[in-house]
Amino acid sequence: MDRTLPLRSLGEPVAAVGTTPPVLDGPVSTALTLPPATPLDEPGYAVLRDLVAAGRVLVLTGAGMSTASGIPDYRGPDGQRRVQPMQHAEFVGSGQARQRYWARAFSGWERFAAARPNVAHEAVAALQRAGLVDGVITQNVDGLHQRAGARDVLELHGSLGRVVCLDCGEPYTREQVHDWLVEANPGFVARAGGGEVRPDGDVVLAEELVRRFRAPRCLVCGGDALKPDVVFFGGSVPRPVVEQAFAMLGRSGLLLVLGSSLRVMSGYRFVRRAARDGIPVAVVTRGETRGAGEPTVQLDCLLDDVLPRLVADLAA
Ligand SMILES: [Zn+2]
Repeated sequence: MDRTLPLRSLGEPVAAVGTTPPVLDGPVSTALTLPPATPLDEPGYAVLRDLVAAGRVLVLTGAGMSTASGIPDYRGPDGQRRVQPMQHAEFVGSGQARQRYWARAFSGWERFAAARPNVAHEAVAALQRAGLVDGVITQNVDGLHQRAGARDVLELHGSLGRVVCLDCGEPYTREQVHDWLVEANPGFVARAGGGEVRPDGDVVLAEELVRRFRAPRCLVCGGDALKPDVVFFGGSVPRPVVEQAFAMLGRSGLLLVLGSSLRVMSGYRFVRRAARDGIPVAVVTRGETRGAGEPTVQLDCLLDDVLPRLVADLAA
């Protein structure tokens, strides 16, 4: 794993990813981001099924994959971003911003960590076990593909399960950091518990509570620049990760996009590359997407209505 941090190696900003642990319950409802079902386009499904049946499928997943696990999307069905998430430059440049981030993230972590894979994650893993899916590229930072049993998962935007020191590069697991925070901030989560939860799962905390929060420090260099190993808004996907993703795409016979509006450039560029190289593209997502005309087949429907059926038809 390249320990260099996602700085602006490609000069290409990525849009919002789950930079603070979204929460699973509380005063926010995924009804805000979980769109209603629509009837399945049967001819489109038949095209999709035949493409997947040919194998060598590379799956690319976005936030829509995890909404059914209770992890809200930053965007609603209309594709509009609902909340301004943490900015890369703000996090890197301000100790206060980092303290605020960690106070909020700490308050939501246990609920986030309790999220479980849903039927869509399980279907992808089943298609992989059946030999049809070669690998998965995900924009999600929740680790749910791996927990469903998928292999060869490339995390385009990193993982909330890892933490790294921006100053010296020392890596930590999120559990380690969480355990320190529990010890350093007794009773904090209970005091923060009544905080309002926003659609991105950010727990709104009183400034006074944030000021008293003891943020994590690096055990090696003593600095306060610990960062979750994810790409914040305004940051960039590390070049080795992008190159690995393009290599996976080059070996594939189909790019299957699941639960992504493709508004995030870091994902959309794979659709463009596939179209350029003559690799078929299938998109299954609810709502509007970017790249009209580029996909070979596009189904505007819930993943739950398509993926279990693909498993029944092809992997049973
Ligand atoms: Zn350090």
